Amino acid sequence: MAAQIIDGKAVSAKVKEEVRQEIEREGLEVGLAVVIVGDDPASRVYVNNKKKACEVCGIKSYEYALPAETTEEQLLELVDTLNADDKVNGILVQLPLPKHLNEEKVIERISPMKDVDAFHAANVGKIMIGNYAFLPCTPAGCMELIHSAGIDVSGKECVVIGRSNIVGKPMAMLLLHENGTVTVCHSRTKDLKEVCRRADILVAAVGRAGFVTADMVKDGAVVIDVGINRNADGKLCGDVAYDEVAEKASFITPVPGGVGPMTIAMLMKNTVMAKRIQSK
Ligand code: NDP
Repeated sequence: MAAQIIDGKAVSAKVKEEVRQEIEREGLEVGLAVVIVGDDPASRVYVNNKKKACEVCGIKSYEYALPAETTEEQLLELVDTLNADDKVNGILVQLPLPKHLNEEKVIERISPMKDVDAFHAANVGKIMIGNYAFLPCTPAGCMELIHSAGIDVSGKECVVIGRSNIVGKPMAMLLLHENGTVTVCHSRTKDLKEVCRRADILVAAVGRAGFVTADMVKDGAVVIDVGINRNADGKLCGDVAYDEVAEKASFITPVPGGVGPMTIAMLMKNTVMAKRIQSK
């Protein structure tokens, strides 16, 4: 039986509408600063999509497009200015940064209260403890999709492929917070196929087109595809070999139209949360 598609576009539209209503109802003035350094085309698309989402939600966006040769000092200075600016509730520095800039140093400079990506070590630590204000947008978006399909994580075998700081690790943590039995796989994992076949919930965050094939998926599994790749024809695709896996899974997220739009919707949610924290 073919899997049910979890529609990230629809769920993200609902989240954004809730944010919009909340802002309107309470007359909140919310601002998000988006900093982009250089002219990476993919980053430009992401930044434009974030700006559009701000418009939909009634969040004021401030864009800072800096040239590729910006020095670390200049970038840190801008972050300091944004940290001190009351109109700016959230600060997002679009990654990746050009090689000469130290991403960790830049992220650590953002005020944890304005760190709407939840990449700052203080926020990462809070997520570990389970006492957090912000959730990292992509894993939080995946959880929202899982919930939207009425899936209860508790007691389920959850396998996350990928252990990056921005997706794999926090994803594992969120599944654990909801009482999943979590395994995290990476490039050194032995018998990856066998481990993945145990999963009731399989999350792919690898960055390789068509990496997860049907023989790695248990019948009836829930498959969440975080990957954003281009296939040989230049078409946008995920990490999952969609057609064959959809024949086996119970639920599946498409690419495009799955996790991607959710990441942006959760960013909007975090920005309103930042406003609330700063107003206290
Ligand atoms: P990274 O490159 O940082 O991490 C990839 C992970 O995959 C690593 O942990 C790596 O293992 C693991 N991996 C690579 N090859 C294999 C293999 N053969 N077997 C098992 N594991 C393997 O990527 P990100 O986490 O940043 O992103 C993952 C994907 O998600 C990308 O396609 C990215 O574009 C997409 N993405 C999508 C977002 C969205 O909004 N939808 C947001 C962020 C990312 P190891 O650690 O051992 O090297």
